[in-house]
Amino acid sequence: MRVLGIETTCDETAAAVVEDKLGGGGGEILSNEVMSQIARHAAYGGVVPEIAARAHIEVLDRLVARALSDARIDLGAVDAVAAAAGPGLIGGILVGLTAGKALALAAGKPFIAVNHLEAHALTARLTDGTDFPYLALIVSGGHTQLVAVRGVGDYQRLGSTIDDAIGEAFDKVGKMMGAPYPGGPHIERLAAEGDAQRFNLPRPMLGRPGADFSLSGLKTAVRQELLRLGEEPSDTDKRDIAASFQAAIVDIVVDRVRSALRLLAEEDCRPNALVIGGGVGANGAIRRALTRFSAEAGLRFISPAPELCSDNGAMIAWAGLERFKLGLVDDLGFAPRPRWPLDASFSAAHHGKA
Ligand code: ATP
Ligand code: MG
Ligand code: FE
Repeated sequence: MRVLGIETTCDETAAAVVEDKLGGGGGEILSNEVMSQIARHAAYGGVVPEIAARAHIEVLDRLVARALSDARIDLGAVDAVAAAAGPGLIGGILVGLTAGKALALAAGKPFIAVNHLEAHALTARLTDGTDFPYLALIVSGGHTQLVAVRGVGDYQRLGSTIDDAIGEAFDKVGKMMGAPYPGGPHIERLAAEGDAQRFNLPRPMLGRPGADFSLSGLKTAVRQELLRLGEEPSDTDKRDIAASFQAAIVDIVVDRVRSALRLLAEEDCRPNALVIGGGVGANGAIRRALTRFSAEAGLRFISPAPELCSDNGAMIAWAGLERFKLGLVDDLGFAPRPRWPLDASFSAAHHGKA
Protein backbone atom coordinates (compact mmCIF):
# COMPACT_ATOMS: atom_id res chain seq x y z
CA MET A 1 0.00 0.00 0.00
CA ARG A 2 1.34 3.43 -0.97
CA VAL A 3 0.34 6.84 0.32
CA LEU A 4 1.30 10.32 -0.86
CA GLY A 5 1.73 12.78 2.04
CA ILE A 6 1.81 16.58 2.04
CA GLU A 7 3.12 18.85 4.81
CA THR A 8 2.71 22.65 4.88
CA THR A 9 1.83 23.53 8.49
CA CYS A 10 4.90 25.64 9.24
CA ASP A 11 8.00 26.62 7.27
CA GLU A 12 8.77 23.38 5.45
CA THR A 13 6.97 22.48 2.25
CA ALA A 14 7.13 18.72 1.87
CA ALA A 15 5.76 15.83 -0.16
CA ALA A 16 6.60 12.14 0.10
CA VAL A 17 5.48 8.66 -0.84
CA VAL A 18 5.71 5.82 1.66
CA GLU A 19 4.84 2.16 1.41
CA ASP A 20 4.22 -0.39 4.14
CA LYS A 21 6.56 -3.35 4.37
CA LEU A 22 5.00 -6.65 3.54
CA GLY A 23 4.85 -8.99 6.48
CA GLY A 24 6.77 -6.75 8.88
CA GLY A 25 6.46 -3.59 10.89
CA GLY A 26 7.69 -0.30 9.59
CA GLY A 27 7.61 1.29 6.20
CA GLU A 28 9.65 2.13 3.18
CA ILE A 29 10.18 5.74 2.17
CA LEU A 30 9.96 5.80 -1.62
CA SER A 31 10.55 9.53 -1.80
CA ASN A 32 10.85 12.43 0.64
CA GLU A 33 11.02 15.91 -0.83
CA VAL A 34 11.45 18.80 1.59
CA MET A 35 11.96 22.44 0.84
CA SER A 36 12.78 24.58 3.83
CA GLN A 37 11.84 28.25 3.77
CA ILE A 38 14.39 29.10 6.45
CA ALA A 39 16.27 31.55 4.20
CA ARG A 40 13.11 33.58 3.61
CA HIS A 41 12.34 33.92 7.32
CA ALA A 42 15.88 34.22 8.69
CA ALA A 43 16.00 38.01 8.51
CA TYR A 44 12.79 38.30 10.58
CA GLY A 45 14.03 36.12 13.44
CA GLY A 46 11.12 33.70 13.07
CA VAL A 47 8.49 32.35 10.71
CA VAL A 48 6.32 35.04 9.06
CA PRO A 49 2.94 33.37 8.38
CA GLU A 50 2.08 35.36 5.25
CA ILE A 51 5.48 34.71 3.67
CA ALA A 52 5.20 31.02 4.59
CA ALA A 53 1.80 30.57 2.93
CA ARG A 54 2.91 32.22 -0.29
CA ALA A 55 6.11 30.20 -0.40
CA HIS A 56 4.16 26.93 0.00
CA ILE A 57 2.00 27.85 -3.01
CA GLU A 58 5.06 28.54 -5.14
CA VAL A 59 6.73 25.17 -4.65
CA LEU A 60 4.17 22.58 -3.62
CA ASP A 61 3.13 21.35 -7.08
CA ARG A 62 6.76 20.86 -8.09
CA LEU A 63 7.51 19.00 -4.87
CA VAL A 64 4.54 16.66 -5.35
CA ALA A 65 5.63 15.97 -8.94
CA ARG A 66 9.17 15.23 -7.74
CA ALA A 67 7.94 13.01 -4.89
CA LEU A 68 5.98 10.93 -7.41
CA SER A 69 8.79 10.77 -9.96
CA ASP A 70 11.40 9.86 -7.30
CA ALA A 71 9.09 7.06 -6.23
CA ARG A 72 8.78 6.05 -9.92
CA ILE A 73 5.02 6.06 -9.83
CA ASP A 74 2.24 8.28 -11.03
CA LEU A 75 -0.65 9.57 -9.00
CA GLY A 76 -2.85 6.72 -10.19
CA ALA A 77 -0.57 4.26 -8.40
CA VAL A 78 -1.05 5.65 -4.89
CA ASP A 79 -3.74 4.15 -2.69
CA ALA A 80 -4.58 7.36 -0.84
CA VAL A 81 -3.54 10.99 -0.43
CA ALA A 82 -2.83 12.43 3.03
CA ALA A 83 -2.26 16.05 4.03
CA ALA A 84 -1.54 17.69 7.37
CA ALA A 85 -4.66 19.60 8.47
CA GLY A 86 -3.12 21.14 11.59
CA PRO A 87 -2.02 22.24 14.07
CA GLY A 88 -0.04 25.10 12.56
CA LEU A 89 -0.34 28.28 10.55
CA ILE A 90 -3.72 28.61 8.85
CA GLY A 91 -2.40 30.00 5.54
CA GLY A 92 0.05 27.17 5.05
CA ILE A 93 -2.40 24.50 6.14
CA LEU A 94 -4.94 25.75 3.59
CA VAL A 95 -2.39 25.36 0.81
CA GLY A 96 -1.42 21.76 1.59
CA LEU A 97 -4.85 20.60 2.65
CA THR A 98 -6.51 22.01 -0.47
CA ALA A 99 -3.81 20.55 -2.71
CA GLY A 100 -4.19 17.13 -1.07
CA LYS A 101 -7.95 17.15 -1.48
CA ALA A 102 -7.67 18.25 -5.12
CA LEU A 103 -5.16 15.48 -5.91
CA ALA A 104 -7.35 12.89 -4.18
CA LEU A 105 -10.40 14.09 -6.05
CA ALA A 106 -8.63 14.16 -9.41
CA ALA A 107 -7.21 10.68 -8.95
CA GLY A 108 -10.36 9.24 -7.42
CA LYS A 109 -8.46 8.21 -4.28
CA PRO A 110 -9.42 8.40 -0.61
CA PHE A 111 -8.29 11.48 1.31
CA ILE A 112 -6.89 11.45 4.84
CA ALA A 113 -6.50 14.53 7.05
CA VAL A 114 -3.51 14.06 9.35
CA ASN A 115 -2.71 15.73 12.65
CA HIS A 116 0.88 16.99 12.39
CA LEU A 117 1.67 15.96 15.98
CA GLU A 118 0.24 12.51 15.39
CA ALA A 119 2.61 12.22 12.44
CA HIS A 120 5.63 13.13 14.62
CA ALA A 121 4.42 10.62 17.22
CA LEU A 122 4.02 7.77 14.70
CA THR A 123 7.33 8.28 12.86
CA ALA A 124 9.05 5.67 15.06
CA ARG A 125 6.69 3.08 13.60
CA LEU A 126 7.72 4.06 10.08
CA THR A 127 11.43 3.86 10.87
CA ASP A 128 11.51 1.03 13.41
CA GLY A 129 8.12 -0.66 13.41
CA THR A 130 7.83 0.17 17.13
CA ASP A 131 4.94 -1.56 18.90
CA PHE A 132 2.40 0.28 21.06
CA PRO A 133 2.46 1.52 23.73
CA TYR A 134 5.42 3.88 23.76
CA LEU A 135 6.36 7.28 25.11
CA ALA A 136 6.87 10.04 22.53
CA LEU A 137 8.80 13.22 23.23
CA ILE A 138 7.79 15.80 20.62
CA VAL A 139 10.10 18.80 20.69
CA SER A 140 10.13 21.48 18.00
CA GLY A 141 9.85 25.20 17.50
CA GLY A 142 6.12 25.14 18.17
CA HIS A 143 5.63 22.10 20.37
CA THR A 144 7.01 20.50 23.50
CA GLN A 145 5.09 17.55 24.80
CA LEU A 146 5.27 14.05 26.20
CA VAL A 147 2.63 11.75 24.80
CA ALA A 148 1.71 8.17 25.64
CA VAL A 149 1.08 6.56 22.26
CA ARG A 150 -1.21 3.59 22.86
CA GLY A 151 -2.51 3.04 19.35
CA VAL A 152 -3.34 4.88 16.16
CA GLY A 153 -5.60 7.70 17.34
CA ASP A 154 -5.11 6.73 20.96
CA TYR A 155 -2.89 9.42 22.46
CA GLN A 156 -2.62 10.71 25.98
CA ARG A 157 -0.78 13.94 26.53
CA LEU A 158 1.12 13.51 29.78
CA GLY A 159 2.61 16.97 29.80
CA SER A 160 3.49 19.95 27.68
CA THR A 161 5.13 23.33 28.02
CA ILE A 162 3.32 25.98 30.00
CA ASP A 163 5.17 28.77 28.17
CA ASP A 164 7.84 28.51 25.44
CA ALA A 165 8.56 25.45 23.32
CA ILE A 166 12.12 24.11 23.60
CA GLY A 167 12.94 24.95 19.98
CA GLU A 168 11.55 28.42 20.57
CA ALA A 169 13.86 28.82 23.58
CA PHE A 170 16.84 27.75 21.42
CA ASP A 171 15.74 30.24 18.77
CA LYS A 172 15.30 33.10 21.24
CA VAL A 173 18.63 32.48 22.94
CA GLY A 174 20.22 32.27 19.49
CA LYS A 175 18.68 35.60 18.59
CA MET A 176 20.00 37.20 21.79
CA MET A 177 23.47 36.17 20.68
CA GLY A 178 23.03 37.47 17.17
CA ALA A 179 22.44 34.11 15.44
CA PRO A 180 19.98 33.94 12.55
CA TYR A 181 16.78 31.86 12.79
CA PRO A 182 16.73 28.99 13.60
CA GLY A 183 19.05 29.29 16.57
CA GLY A 184 19.06 25.59 17.55
CA PRO A 185 21.82 24.27 15.30
CA HIS A 186 23.89 27.39 15.95
CA ILE A 187 23.65 26.99 19.74
CA GLU A 188 24.58 23.34 19.45
CA ARG A 189 27.72 24.21 17.48
CA LEU A 190 28.73 26.92 19.99
CA ALA A 191 27.97 24.65 22.94
CA ALA A 192 30.31 21.96 21.64
CA GLU A 193 33.29 24.18 22.50
CA GLY A 194 31.89 25.88 25.57
CA ASP A 195 32.10 25.40 29.32
CA ALA A 196 28.72 24.18 30.56
CA GLN A 197 29.72 24.77 34.19
CA ARG A 198 30.45 28.48 33.84
CA PHE A 199 26.92 29.83 34.17
CA ASN A 200 24.62 28.41 36.78
CA LEU A 201 21.27 28.58 34.99
CA PRO A 202 17.90 27.56 36.46
CA ARG A 203 16.20 24.30 35.51
CA PRO A 204 12.50 25.10 35.89
CA MET A 205 10.14 22.23 36.88
CA LEU A 206 13.02 19.92 37.79
CA GLY A 207 11.80 17.27 40.21
CA ARG A 208 8.19 18.40 40.01
CA PRO A 209 5.52 15.72 39.65
CA GLY A 210 3.82 15.51 36.29
CA ALA A 211 5.42 15.99 32.90
CA ASP A 212 4.97 19.67 32.14
CA PHE A 213 7.82 21.89 30.97
CA SER A 214 8.59 25.55 31.52
CA LEU A 215 11.33 27.33 29.60
CA SER A 216 10.74 31.03 30.01
CA GLY A 217 12.64 31.36 33.32
CA LEU A 218 15.69 29.74 31.76
CA LYS A 219 15.47 32.04 28.76
CA THR A 220 15.21 35.10 31.01
CA ALA A 221 18.19 33.94 33.06
CA VAL A 222 20.24 33.71 29.86
CA ARG A 223 19.19 37.25 28.94
CA GLN A 224 20.31 38.51 32.36
CA GLU A 225 23.68 36.79 32.08
CA LEU A 226 24.18 38.40 28.67
CA LEU A 227 23.25 41.82 30.06
CA ARG A 228 25.78 41.31 32.83
CA LEU A 229 28.44 40.52 30.24
CA GLY A 230 27.89 43.92 28.66
CA GLU A 231 27.60 45.22 25.10
CA GLU A 232 29.81 42.77 23.26
CA PRO A 233 30.12 39.29 24.77
CA SER A 234 33.28 37.57 23.58
CA ASP A 235 33.21 34.38 21.52
CA THR A 236 34.20 32.47 24.64
CA ASP A 237 31.31 34.05 26.56
CA LYS A 238 28.90 33.01 23.82
CA ARG A 239 30.21 29.46 23.72
CA ASP A 240 29.94 29.17 27.51
CA ILE A 241 26.42 30.61 27.54
CA ALA A 242 25.38 28.18 24.78
CA ALA A 243 26.92 25.22 26.60
CA SER A 244 25.37 26.18 29.96
CA PHE A 245 21.96 26.72 28.33
CA GLN A 246 22.07 23.43 26.44
CA ALA A 247 23.13 21.58 29.61
CA ALA A 248 20.11 23.02 31.42
CA ILE A 249 17.81 21.91 28.59
CA VAL A 250 19.29 18.41 28.68
CA ASP A 251 18.71 18.15 32.44
CA ILE A 252 15.13 19.38 32.05
CA VAL A 253 14.34 16.96 29.22
CA VAL A 254 15.74 13.93 31.04
CA ASP A 255 13.93 14.87 34.25
CA ARG A 256 10.58 15.34 32.49
CA VAL A 257 10.93 12.05 30.61
CA ARG A 258 11.72 10.30 33.91
CA SER A 259 8.66 11.88 35.50
CA ALA A 260 6.43 10.92 32.54
CA LEU A 261 7.59 7.31 32.86
CA ARG A 262 6.63 7.47 36.53
CA LEU A 263 3.13 8.63 35.55
CA LEU A 264 2.84 5.69 33.17
CA ALA A 265 4.12 3.27 35.80
CA GLU A 266 1.37 4.44 38.15
CA GLU A 267 -1.11 3.34 35.48
CA ASP A 268 0.72 0.03 35.07
CA CYS A 269 1.65 1.03 31.56
CA ARG A 270 4.99 -0.36 30.39
CA PRO A 271 6.11 1.50 27.29
CA ASN A 272 8.09 -0.48 24.70
CA ALA A 273 10.25 2.48 23.85
CA LEU A 274 11.02 6.14 24.22
CA VAL A 275 10.88 7.92 20.87
CA ILE A 276 11.85 11.43 19.94
CA GLY A 277 10.36 13.62 17.23
CA GLY A 278 10.41 17.26 16.16
CA GLY A 279 13.28 19.45 14.94
CA VAL A 280 14.97 19.67 18.36
CA GLY A 281 15.37 15.89 18.09
CA ALA A 282 18.35 16.68 15.87
CA ASN A 283 20.26 17.96 18.90
CA GLY A 284 23.15 15.61 19.63
CA ALA A 285 23.44 16.47 23.34
CA ILE A 286 19.76 15.65 23.91
CA ARG A 287 20.04 12.46 21.87
CA ARG A 288 23.13 11.31 23.78
CA ALA A 289 21.55 12.08 27.16
CA LEU A 290 18.38 10.18 26.27
CA THR A 291 20.39 7.26 24.92
CA ARG A 292 22.21 7.06 28.26
CA PHE A 293 19.04 7.52 30.29
CA SER A 294 17.15 4.86 28.31
CA ALA A 295 19.96 2.35 28.66
CA GLU A 296 19.88 2.83 32.44
CA ALA A 297 16.09 2.59 32.49
CA GLY A 298 16.15 -0.58 30.37
CA LEU A 299 14.09 1.14 27.71
CA ARG A 300 14.59 1.11 23.96
CA PHE A 301 15.38 4.60 22.64
CA ILE A 302 14.36 5.40 19.09
CA SER A 303 15.68 8.54 17.48
CA PRO A 304 14.76 8.78 13.81
CA ALA A 305 17.28 10.45 11.50
CA PRO A 306 17.26 14.24 11.92
CA GLU A 307 15.47 14.73 8.57
CA LEU A 308 12.64 12.54 9.87
CA CYS A 309 12.54 14.39 13.22
CA SER A 310 12.05 17.81 11.64
CA ASP A 311 8.97 18.50 9.54
CA ASN A 312 8.71 16.24 6.51
CA GLY A 313 6.22 14.63 4.16
CA ALA A 314 7.11 11.01 4.92
CA MET A 315 5.68 11.27 8.44
CA ILE A 316 2.40 12.65 7.07
CA ALA A 317 2.21 9.92 4.43
CA TRP A 318 2.95 7.29 7.08
CA ALA A 319 0.32 8.57 9.54
CA GLY A 320 -2.12 8.64 6.62
CA LEU A 321 -1.19 5.06 5.76
CA GLU A 322 -1.71 3.89 9.34
CA ARG A 323 -5.13 5.54 9.46
CA PHE A 324 -6.09 4.26 6.03
CA LYS A 325 -5.25 0.68 7.04
CA LEU A 326 -7.81 1.06 9.84
CA GLY A 327 -10.39 2.37 7.39
CA LEU A 328 -10.13 5.93 8.71
CA VAL A 329 -10.65 8.25 5.76
CA ASP A 330 -11.94 11.81 5.72
CA ASP A 331 -14.28 13.67 3.45
CA LEU A 332 -13.28 16.57 1.26
CA GLY A 333 -15.09 19.01 3.54
CA PHE A 334 -12.50 18.50 6.28
CA ALA A 335 -11.69 21.98 7.61
CA PRO A 336 -8.19 23.19 8.57
CA ARG A 337 -7.42 23.02 12.28
CA PRO A 338 -4.80 25.60 13.25
CA ARG A 339 -5.32 24.41 16.83
CA TRP A 340 -5.67 20.67 17.13
CA PRO A 341 -4.49 19.17 20.41
CA LEU A 342 -3.37 15.58 20.49
CA ASP A 343 -5.09 14.24 23.55
CA ALA A 344 -7.78 11.98 24.91
CA SER A 345 -10.53 13.64 22.88
CA PHE A 346 -8.69 12.52 19.77
CA SER A 347 -10.27 9.18 18.96
CA ALA A 348 -9.30 6.69 16.30
CA ALA A 349 -12.78 6.41 14.92
CA HIS A 350 -13.57 10.09 14.75
CA HIS A 351 -11.27 13.01 14.36
CA GLY A 352 -13.41 14.66 17.02
CA LYS A 353 -15.03 18.02 16.77
CA ALA A 354 -12.67 20.93 16.16
P1 ATP B 1 6.38 22.70 14.35
O1 ATP B 1 6.64 23.12 15.75
O2 ATP B 1 5.01 23.08 13.88
O3 ATP B 1 6.70 21.30 14.09
P2 ATP B 1 8.87 23.91 13.47
O4 ATP B 1 9.24 24.40 12.10
O5 ATP B 1 9.21 24.76 14.61
O6 ATP B 1 7.33 23.58 13.43
P3 ATP B 1 10.72 21.76 13.16
O7 ATP B 1 11.05 22.17 11.76
O8 ATP B 1 10.46 20.34 13.44
O9 ATP B 1 9.50 22.52 13.74
O10 ATP B 1 11.90 22.24 14.13
C1 ATP B 1 12.52 23.47 14.08
C2 ATP B 1 13.03 23.80 15.48
O11 ATP B 1 14.04 22.87 15.85
C3 ATP B 1 13.65 25.17 15.59
O12 ATP B 1 13.19 25.78 16.77
C4 ATP B 1 15.15 24.87 15.68
O13 ATP B 1 15.90 25.84 16.39
C5 ATP B 1 15.15 23.55 16.39
N1 ATP B 1 16.38 22.80 16.11
C6 ATP B 1 16.82 22.34 14.93
N2 ATP B 1 18.02 21.75 15.06
C7 ATP B 1 18.37 21.85 16.37
C8 ATP B 1 19.50 21.45 17.14
N3 ATP B 1 20.52 20.84 16.60
N4 ATP B 1 19.47 21.73 18.47
C9 ATP B 1 18.43 22.35 19.03
N5 ATP B 1 17.34 22.76 18.37
C10 ATP B 1 17.31 22.53 17.05
MG1 MG C 1 10.20 23.98 10.60
FE1 FE D 1 6.64 19.61 13.42
